[in-house]
Amino acid sequence: MTKQAQLPPPTLAIVIPCYNEEEALPHSIPALKSLLDELTTKGEIKADSYIMCSNDGSNDGTWQLIEEMHLEDKRVRGISLAHNRGHQYALLAGLMSVIDRCDACVSIDADLQDDPRAIVEMVRDYRLGKEIVYGVRASRKTDTFFKRSTARGFYSFQKAMGLETVYDHADYRLMSNRALQLLSEYGEANMFLRGIIPQIGLDTAVVSYDRNHRVAGESKYPLSKMLALSIDGITSFSAKPMQWIFMVGLISFVLTLAVTIYVLISYFYSTHINPGWASIMLSIWGLGSMILMSIGIVGEYIGKIFVEVKGRPRYAIKDRLWD
Ligand code: UDP
Ligand code: MG
Repeated sequence: MTKQAQLPPPTLAIVIPCYNEEEALPHSIPALKSLLDELTTKGEIKADSYIMCSNDGSNDGTWQLIEEMHLEDKRVRGISLAHNRGHQYALLAGLMSVIDRCDACVSIDADLQDDPRAIVEMVRDYRLGKEIVYGVRASRKTDTFFKRSTARGFYSFQKAMGLETVYDHADYRLMSNRALQLLSEYGEANMFLRGIIPQIGLDTAVVSYDRNHRVAGESKYPLSKMLALSIDGITSFSAKPMQWIFMVGLISFVLTLAVTIYVLISYFYSTHINPGWASIMLSIWGLGSMILMSIGIVGEYIGKIFVEVKGRPRYAIKDRLWD
């Protein structure tokens, strides 16, 4: 068997968003440290690999705990946000803080619901040249029926709304330093990482894993936060809802033509028609459909403004040959 050329072992940064995770961290940090040890011993990663905790304005002892762990082992590092900004921003802050300070990073939740063993395979894919490796859930056996069905609804709804995401992939993924640099060029305020990262491009791979129960503590992602994330994702990526208004207007306009024929026939041939009925019917349908179409047209322009103000990078250069 021919052996494919491998990249040298990377300096790996494991980025963890943490919000009130004082119960989970004492389980998850040691587990991740021993995984780093194992990968270092096997020569898969460099010994200066580390864990970056991004404290999302927790109001329990999370930050103190991270400080203690840092004193004990310098491989545990952290940043602390001034207030609670939500999982996406805590994660983004963590990712931005490791740019140019690692060769690859893996983002994972503090509760280790996502099997950390998948990191082994992610690193293997990275060394084979993949720059983004998505962790995808093989099954959701351990999620409650409610969580499972709401999550399914969440993906299908997004898809219907024109947002492309990787199915059953949350934010558990490996990214190369180059992918991080490209991500940093997205300056938009509403960051929906699962929508943006597939847009970056580069060589990708998928690793599947089983989802476990939370190691400790409770979910920090109730339905309300999930809905907010879904709406945020759709409205940050798609102008489809606005285009629908135009379509509804267009359909009503076509219906108006049919209604006009019906009203005129009734007007001329029916003997018991109320005075004023024909003119009211025609104006309601005619004006209604025109108003809807006009809103749709205005929506198209707002859609354009929406894309412009985001100021997203228009392209990403992967390689350069120079001299
Ligand atoms: N999290 C965060 N800020 C928040 C909510 C959650 O940083 O406002 C973190 C949390 O600490 C965890 C991850 O996001 O590391 C996922 O949260 P959780 O496990 O509670 O969500 P679930 O798995 O239940 O969807
Ligand atoms: Mg969780």
